[in-house]
Amino acid sequence: MDKKVRVRIAPSPTGAIHVGLARSALYNYLFARKHGGTFILRIEDTDAARSTTESADAIIKGLGWLGITFDEGPYYQSRRMDIYKQYVDKLIKTGHAYHCYCTPERLAEERKKAEAEKRAWRYDKWCLHLTPDEKASFEAQGVKPAIRLLIPEGQTTFHDLIHGDITREHKDVDDFVAVRSNGIPTYNFVVVIDDYLMEMTHILRAVEHISNTFKQVLLYKAFGWDIPEFAHLPLILGEDKKKLSKRHGAMSLEEFRKLGYLPDAMVNFLALLGWSPGGDKEIMSRAELVDLFSIERINTSNAVFDMQKLEWMNGEYLRAPDTEKLLSAFQEWLQSQAITLPSECSADFLSKALPLIAERSRTLAEVYDSLFPYLSEDLVYDEKGVEKHFRKDPDAVKERLRLYRERLVALSEFNKETTEEALRQLIEELGIKAGLLIHPVRLAVTGRTVGPPLFDCLELLGRDRVLARLEVFGDYVEE
Ligand code: GLU
Ligand code: ZN
Repeated sequence: MDKKVRVRIAPSPTGAIHVGLARSALYNYLFARKHGGTFILRIEDTDAARSTTESADAIIKGLGWLGITFDEGPYYQSRRMDIYKQYVDKLIKTGHAYHCYCTPERLAEERKKAEAEKRAWRYDKWCLHLTPDEKASFEAQGVKPAIRLLIPEGQTTFHDLIHGDITREHKDVDDFVAVRSNGIPTYNFVVVIDDYLMEMTHILRAVEHISNTFKQVLLYKAFGWDIPEFAHLPLILGEDKKKLSKRHGAMSLEEFRKLGYLPDAMVNFLALLGWSPGGDKEIMSRAELVDLFSIERINTSNAVFDMQKLEWMNGEYLRAPDTEKLLSAFQEWLQSQAITLPSECSADFLSKALPLIAERSRTLAEVYDSLFPYLSEDLVYDEKGVEKHFRKDPDAVKERLRLYRERLVALSEFNKETTEEALRQLIEELGIKAGLLIHPVRLAVTGRTVGPPLFDCLELLGRDRVLARLEVFGDYVEE
C-alpha cells in the first residue's frame, strides 16, 4: 500500500447502533490497525429532522464498549455546512450541476407516470433546459431551487476490491439532488466532499451502497479528484436468510451488552460475519484479528447471523482461564446494568465463584442468575426438581438430609473435600446411590437442579448457610 491508509465510518445518528454498523466499524478499524493507518468517525447528521445527539452518543459509547477506538473525530457534518456550500458553487460554475425548480407535485406526477409505464423513474432533466427568462420568473416567484448533478451520457465502471469491476449505464443513474431546495445537502454529495477532504484511501461499507457509489464516482470525476478504493461488505441476514429481524440478531449493541455478551466475544463474532482467515480457526484475539484481517478474504456472499454461534463463542470467552479478566468484565457488566451486589459479596468470593459458574454459562446475565443462591436468602426451589427429588419419597429424603446435616455439623473443617468425604461415607453406610443424596442436597441449598459441582457450592456457601438451608428445606417445600 503506497498511501497511508485512512478509513472511516460515517453513521447517520438516527437510532441505536446495530450489528451492521458495528461490523463496518470493526472492519475499518482492523484494516487501519493492520496497515498502521488512521480510523475516523464521522457523524452524518445533516438530516436534522432524523438525527439526534443521543444516537450519536450511543454510537460512540457502543464503539467504546467494543474497544473499537478511532483516531480522528467524531466529525459532525452539521458543523461543516459552510464547506459544502463552497463546493456546490464550484460545481455550478463548471456546469456539472444545475438548478431544479420542479415542485414536489410535478415530480410526484412524473414518478406516477413512470410507474404506470413500468419504467424506473429518473429525473427527466426538465430544468436543465430552462431558458434564462424562465429561470428568472421562478426566482421572481420566490421558488427555491434544488441543485442536481448533471450526469453526462455514457457509462461508469468502478473497481470494487471485493466484487471486482461493476459497471452502470448513465441512463440508469439519476441526476440526483446534491442540495435540497431548503439548502440542506444530501448524503451522496457531502459524503464525497468529506471523503475527499479527509483524504480517505479506502471506503469499506455495506453492499447496499453500491448504487450510491456510481453517483459518488461521477461526483469525484466532476471535481477532477482521485477516486478512493471501494470495498462493499456483504449483507448480514438472519438465520431465516431474510433481512435481520428482532429474533435474528437485529438487536442494538446495548441489548447484546445487557444480555451479557463480552466485547471480546462480540468483536470476534462480528469479524466472522463476512470474513474468515481461512481454515477453521474461529476464536481469535484482537491482535490476531488485526494480524490476519485482509480485504481479499471478505466474502462476496451474504453473511448469516447465527445466534447460537454467538452464544457458543461468548461461552468460550467466559471460560477463558483469566479469572482477573472475567471478574472485571462481570463488574463492568454489573455497573452498566446498574446492579449492585450485596456488600458481603467480596471480590474474593467472586474470584472463587465466577470461574465455577462461568463454566456453565453462555452470558454474563446467566452468570448473574446462577449467583443468586449465593447472594440471597430468598431461595426459589425448582418445582420440577422438588417433584423429582423430594415429593416421591419425602420422609426418606428428609431423614437423609437430617443425617447429612449432622455429619456437616460435626466436621472440624468445612470445605469441598471434607463435605464430599462426609457424603461418600454416609451413602455407603445407607447403601444408597450417590444421586439420592446429592440431588436433594443441591436442591435444598441452592434451590436448583444444576450448577457447579455440589461440593464447590457447599464451600462457597459456607457451613452456616448450608446448615440453615438443609434444616428448612423439607418443611418449606411441604407447606
Ligand atoms: N451515512 C451512511 C450510512 O450510515 C454512510 C454510508 C457510507 O459509509 O458512505 O449508511
Ligand atoms: Zn427540475
